[in-house]
Amino acid sequence: MTTNSKTVLSELIKNISESATLLMTRKSREMKAQGMDVINLSIGEPDFNTPDFIKEAALDAIRDNYTHYTPVSGYPELRKAIAAKLKRDNGLDYDFQQIVVSNGAKHSIANIMLCLVNPGDEVIIPAPYWVSYPEITKMAHGKPVEIPTSIESDFKITPQQLEDAITDKSKIFIFSSPCNPSGSFYTKQELQGLAEVIARYPDIFVISDEIYEYINFNGKHASIARFDSIKNRVITVNGVSKGYAMTGWRIGYMAASVEIAKAVDKLQGQYTSGASSIAQRAAIKALEADPNESEEIQEMVKAFKERRELVLKMLNDIPGIKTNRPNGAFYIFPNISSYLGKSNGEYSINNDVDLGMYLLEKAHVAIVPGSAFGNPNCIRISYAASTDILIDAMNRIKKALAELS
Ligand code: PMP
Ligand code: GLU
Repeated sequence: MTTNSKTVLSELIKNISESATLLMTRKSREMKAQGMDVINLSIGEPDFNTPDFIKEAALDAIRDNYTHYTPVSGYPELRKAIAAKLKRDNGLDYDFQQIVVSNGAKHSIANIMLCLVNPGDEVIIPAPYWVSYPEITKMAHGKPVEIPTSIESDFKITPQQLEDAITDKSKIFIFSSPCNPSGSFYTKQELQGLAEVIARYPDIFVISDEIYEYINFNGKHASIARFDSIKNRVITVNGVSKGYAMTGWRIGYMAASVEIAKAVDKLQGQYTSGASSIAQRAAIKALEADPNESEEIQEMVKAFKERRELVLKMLNDIPGIKTNRPNGAFYIFPNISSYLGKSNGEYSINNDVDLGMYLLEKAHVAIVPGSAFGNPNCIRISYAASTDILIDAMNRIKKALAELS
């Protein structure tokens, strides 16, 4: 049956791209299902399992009948545990009423954008950025405005670059530190420079995505909400996915002014309701664990740090590849531009997407092309995999690249 002259899909959905991280993961899963030996370094999630003490809390929650609808913003006990965590780890004072729990940090970011952005409002996004920022902006009818960076500046922006990107349409500045995909990390002094710019523009809000806070190899994480002059306009986003190896549980949160928290509650109340009861009870247990004292978290961070060294060393052995030195998260974003324009038999590498497909089909390694993160000269490699797998993957990449001429 054909439809009438109206098209099936909305302009909104036609206008947004599929998540490149999830797309590459889907492709590599399909190849694996066909029996191919594919190494998937495309999805960003810890390869560790959720620690047992958190899993036990979920089992208790089921036994104790935490099986009903939850309050839209989350159980008060969880919101209080988040407030205590923000105080303990970040030196931030939030009342639990300023906190809303959602189905992952991705959901928190989408909620905030939908609550703050009017059509045409500009959202300033330093590139490289996490794939979903521009697409979520477009979902909210906003306009993504990118600030380019390069390896030379460790993929970080300067206060001047931020100031230059601001117009009278700017509504939000969003960034992640540690950054997905560059692993870069803004120091407190660097954040202060950015905060001083924001302080001069009272209509701009900041979304500070701190989901990789604990996976940080370079001293103490700093939150931009610490700067009192802008705190009321900062929305701190975090969650349990990365730090506690809980990606599948889908618990994220945001802390903001009461006005924004109430707006997010209203929005969420109309289209998702409160997050999973069982996952929330488990998240309380997770957040109560001080990351500095948790053996599980410390071991995970230590493993990521060792893998960073390994991957850096192996990538730097490949001719023509340039890297920064990631200080956090579990990604590396090497510059591969010297391979663009080369070919190998039926494969012509005209751009980073061609290179991604070449590495997938020829080397059987899934990575994500850098254009998905706003930088087509790079690719993103997730090193959340065992040392043996990483060595195998880097050797495969090296061999496939050597075959290009
Ligand atoms: N922000 C960044 C920078 C991320 O890498 C991710 C991981 N996909 C998220 C947010 C979303 O995390 P969550 O699993 O909590 O939705
Ligand atoms: N944060 C991960 C990534 O960037 C998970 C996938 C996603 O949600 O984008 O790969």
